[in-house]
Amino acid sequence: MAEGLGLIDTHVHLEMREFDPDRGAVVRRAKGSGIGIITVGIDLDSSARAVELAEEFGLYAAVGVHPHEAKRYTPDLEKALARLEELARAERVVALGEIGLDYYRNYSPREDQLRVFHAQLELAAGLDKPVIVHDRQADEDILAGLGRAGVRGVVHSFSSGLEVAQGLLGLGLYLGFSGPVTFPKARQQYVLKHVPLERLLLETDAPFLTPLPHRGKRNEPSYLRYIARAVAKLTGLALEKVAEQTTRNAAALFALPS
Ligand SMILES: [Zn+2]
Repeated sequence: MAEGLGLIDTHVHLEMREFDPDRGAVVRRAKGSGIGIITVGIDLDSSARAVELAEEFGLYAAVGVHPHEAKRYTPDLEKALARLEELARAERVVALGEIGLDYYRNYSPREDQLRVFHAQLELAAGLDKPVIVHDRQADEDILAGLGRAGVRGVVHSFSSGLEVAQGLLGLGLYLGFSGPVTFPKARQQYVLKHVPLERLLLETDAPFLTPLPHRGKRNEPSYLRYIARAVAKLTGLALEKVAEQTTRNAAALFALPS
């Protein structure tokens, strides 16, 4: 078990309705397992809620507009950015996110996604905050955007190939790994082995991407231990070493107090 290991779940959507019935218990189970939480917004309302939850439960928050939601904010992007900046200045906010591009689902038109992504990268650079990035089949534009903005950050729930991983590592980015590292034959298992432990972050992406042995049920931060164990097994490193270094990575990237 992860008791005493001191892990940080760097990507949780704790404000989502899947946690309405038992949010307090979910946080208690995580804390009881020695797991810290960064809860991540996907639009302005959920970002405001993430800040509230961080204050209520003593967690960290990230605020941002997800690519799926981009089209809702392009009609008055300046106003949305002003609100986002206000949220980003809250005490427990450690990053801008979840931001990025999703050319798989295309819930927002690409031009809206790109406008909102680039604007948030600029905001992050101006505020000197790291970014938490979603990349689904948009590798080229993600690499270009991050390269141009020169921000630090993580591409979360990394699902692209090794070449893209190496491009991102070359830009100084971290890569976040989640439930799929527990799935037999997942591409993430292969890519993970080529990522230096010093650039690796652990995350659940709860309530999504539930790791084995709970696949098919709702995910929650206390399951981060299964992901840490899978990373240890795949890399051949001791679980304690994986826990210690990935926690150190998260603390460094997000400037968490020790
Ligand atoms: Zn997410």
